[in-house]
Amino acid sequence: MFYHLTTFGCQMNDHDSERIRGVLEEHGWRPAVDAEAADLLVFNTCAVREGAESRLEGRLGEARRIKRGKPGLLVALGGCVAQRRQEDIFHELPFIDVAFGPQNIGQLPVLLERAAEGPSPAYAFEDNPVPSADLPAVRVERRRAWVQAMSGCTNYCSYCVVPHVRGPERSRPPDEIEAEVARLAADGVIEITVLGQNVNAYGLDRRGASGSGSFTDFAGLLARLDAIEGIERIRFTTSHPKDLSKRLIEAMRDLPAVCEHLHLPVQSGSTRILKRMKRGYTRGHYLGLVEKLRTEVPDLALTTDIIVGFPGEREDDFHRTMTLAEACAFDGAFTFIFSARPGTEAAEMPGRVPEVTLKRRMEELIELVQRTADRINQGLVGRELEVLVEGPSRAGEGQLRGRTRNNKIVNFRPLPVDADGKTQTQLDASAEEPAGPPLVTVHIESATSTTLKGRQV
Ligand code: SAH
Ligand code: SF4
Repeated sequence: MFYHLTTFGCQMNDHDSERIRGVLEEHGWRPAVDAEAADLLVFNTCAVREGAESRLEGRLGEARRIKRGKPGLLVALGGCVAQRRQEDIFHELPFIDVAFGPQNIGQLPVLLERAAEGPSPAYAFEDNPVPSADLPAVRVERRRAWVQAMSGCTNYCSYCVVPHVRGPERSRPPDEIEAEVARLAADGVIEITVLGQNVNAYGLDRRGASGSGSFTDFAGLLARLDAIEGIERIRFTTSHPKDLSKRLIEAMRDLPAVCEHLHLPVQSGSTRILKRMKRGYTRGHYLGLVEKLRTEVPDLALTTDIIVGFPGEREDDFHRTMTLAEACAFDGAFTFIFSARPGTEAAEMPGRVPEVTLKRRMEELIELVQRTADRINQGLVGRELEVLVEGPSRAGEGQLRGRTRNNKIVNFRPLPVDADGKTQTQLDASAEEPAGPPLVTVHIESATSTTLKGRQV
């Protein structure tokens, strides 16, 4: 029996998808070459913006069409859209056989069996998240892995659907996380990305707990992971400015494996809008954090998320976002147009920004972000940087692709790795595993706002 999985959304969903694969394959399912060849279609969905949900609609239309010619086909809807629409899924989308929330991945095989026996669809939704880290996972990459530190979110930013679909914040015990990372390291992983909606609040929900799950804050957790033999690089996402502590900045400065990159979503540069967003910090607080980070962590790359056109955003508010972006000199920014999500506070707020204004503000912001990123990247030309090799580059010509510690994508010409003068790319073509060393030094020769180019030295 063959399955086909489609994933939407954030890294948390990518990681959940590894576990969906893990539980399915443990129960005898195998990956199909494409959707047409599958006996089961699984969708792991994202509800954070309307765009992702409309893309899903298109893919579900395709599933419905395939099922018409293949009545035995099972269709399973998982993730945040399933959780959000649990009341109406089977009514609105009658070709769906199974629906499950982000906390119910472990039950998927049982639900599939139940649905296959018919006659009614099967579903499971949990409101109280328990990080499902004990599930088997099929990892696609050998050297990099995601590690879930916590699940859920209790911040209730006024625009955001995540707390409504992922439940309250819950941290995994530090011992459990440490053991998982040690297992990954033994398996050859050298880079981990620690995941949570707000990792800076890690452990705060466990204060006062005793025994094996005893309290450690996020800085403490990073120190424990940093000490694990074989782990060369540690990344984490997402950080919330309201919970970014002095201890964490010092951990970034002092722990050798923790990479010089921080993704710190600001959302807006206007304190008035931040208040309406319920973000819990001011423009001044954010700028102060950036100043401290820049002094303590030289070479830090800083990226962010910005929402344009939040209800009530005036020209002067937008101007403040522009001046903040200028002052912070972001290496990159994900920019989003405000999307009204059903059930959130902001969806009911007055002051929707007209389409033409949205478009203009977005263009101005993107132009500034690209110009800044380009300037920063040009400054790296001539430097020699450590790159973790990910595989062949899409640029072709025998080039490899990898990432620097501060998360810049690098395409580069590799050195020969064997006596015949073969490069890693040529050897990889005939082997399962990359042939060369995972970490190489690359001399940067040119740059754009999104990528660096160079040659291995
Ligand atoms: N927990 C993370 C982000 C989760 S969602 C954090 O707090 O930073 C990822 C990004 O999507 C957010 O940072 C925000 O910029 C954007 N986003 C979330 N809800 C949105 C909405 N309703 N409209 C537009 N952008 C949104
Ligand atoms: Fe959403 Fe805010 Fe939680 Fe991030 S911190 S997931 S934006 S509610």
